[in-house]
Amino acid sequence: MQADLICVGNELLTGLIENSNTGFLARRLWSTGISVREACVVADDESAIGEALDRAKRESDLVIITGGLGPTEDDRTREVVAEVLGLPLVLNQEWLEKMDQFFRNRGVKMPVNNLKQALVIKGSLLLDNHRGTAPGAIVESAGKIFVLLPGPPHELKEMFDDQVQPYLVGKNKTGRTAVKTLKCIGIGESRLEEKIKALGEWELPPISYVARGYEVDLQIKGSGENEEASISIDEAERRLRSLLGDHVYGSNDDTLAGLVAELLAARRMTLSLAESCSGGLLSDIITDIPGSSKFYRGGLVPYNAELKIKLLGIGSELLEKEGEVSDLTARAMAAGIKELFGTDFAIGITGIAGPESDPSGKPVGLVYIAIAGPDILKSRELYLGGGRRAVKERAAQIALDMLRKELMKIKS
Ligand code: ATP
Ligand code: MG
Repeated sequence: MQADLICVGNELLTGLIENSNTGFLARRLWSTGISVREACVVADDESAIGEALDRAKRESDLVIITGGLGPTEDDRTREVVAEVLGLPLVLNQEWLEKMDQFFRNRGVKMPVNNLKQALVIKGSLLLDNHRGTAPGAIVESAGKIFVLLPGPPHELKEMFDDQVQPYLVGKNKTGRTAVKTLKCIGIGESRLEEKIKALGEWELPPISYVARGYEVDLQIKGSGENEEASISIDEAERRLRSLLGDHVYGSNDDTLAGLVAELLAARRMTLSLAESCSGGLLSDIITDIPGSSKFYRGGLVPYNAELKIKLLGIGSELLEKEGEVSDLTARAMAAGIKELFGTDFAIGITGIAGPESDPSGKPVGLVYIAIAGPDILKSRELYLGGGRRAVKERAAQIALDMLRKELMKIKS
């Protein structure tokens, strides 16, 4: 099955609001095995919406249109879809009562404007909205499916996951049905492709590569009927895992930080961080994981030399001789924080995020990451590119990967 997406809203065209609905829907459709042919953004304008709809319904079996379901004058989506499909709008008493209740619960009378939201396209399936007053809708017409969703992302997401996705899974019985993502780290996109190509004859499903900093997602798309598609994905996964070894750290929604968290928790081990150039980013990533307080004891961001000496006990001679950005400094940071916070593992990160070098003239992007464990103290020297933010992000990803590899060596 193939889909067209239409996002309606003037604010999306002025750049006032970032269009996040397209990305969300495309990812969800992809994982349902539905490919998106075209996605467009149009103004709150009847003829613009109408033209986009005409094109979409000519090309695709599924058309999803978001926004413009509100109560105000400029919300025209419902009306235009009804007109393009040649269907009347009818009053839905149940929705009217629901809205009335919605406003009464808030102690106010329903504005007359909202009446419009109880007008639904005849023959459509109403989609409940637990977070607002705009109902969504699914209409089938001339063998095509039209899905109308409210613009606010939190309303759209819940409605899609709870009501639209199950509906689409039921409809999309044939064609491409299964997808799986293998999460890879420590190997570049092109090297990855080279390795996979070298496998020779590949009669398995097509693969796409999505680079995300130091990680690459390998997306395997199974074709054929349901069963056939998942068998071919299983076979592709088996071959890719044996080819790539521990470059594959997980699949689908797994994250590197989530995996490290699981490994630490299973071993009942603790972690602390001393971050200089990453500015606390790794700490931020780790504390995003629910339950991280079980293994994460905390971190420091000693951005300046004096504090590195004072807080982490790094020798001033070492800093003078080697410089703040050096292998030995990273090691001393990891060892220092491990001792100070009394943890099983600790990471030290120091580097030059740029855009200018430090007085020593070391190159921008030079980063040292050290990891101290129960009986190890290891470090890596890296040259990372891509600007200040990218250097920080990559450093954090690589640090997590180093920790992952050490944890995998320890039995839980
Ligand atoms: P409402 O009842 O809130 O008016 P609606 O279905 O009419 O809902 P819109 O008026 O088009 O939706 O959009 C409401 C708000 O939702 C916008 O101001 C914007 O903040 C957000 N929104 C709409 N479309 C998108 C989108 N594609 N990506 C991100 N946010 C969006
Ligand atoms: Mg609106």
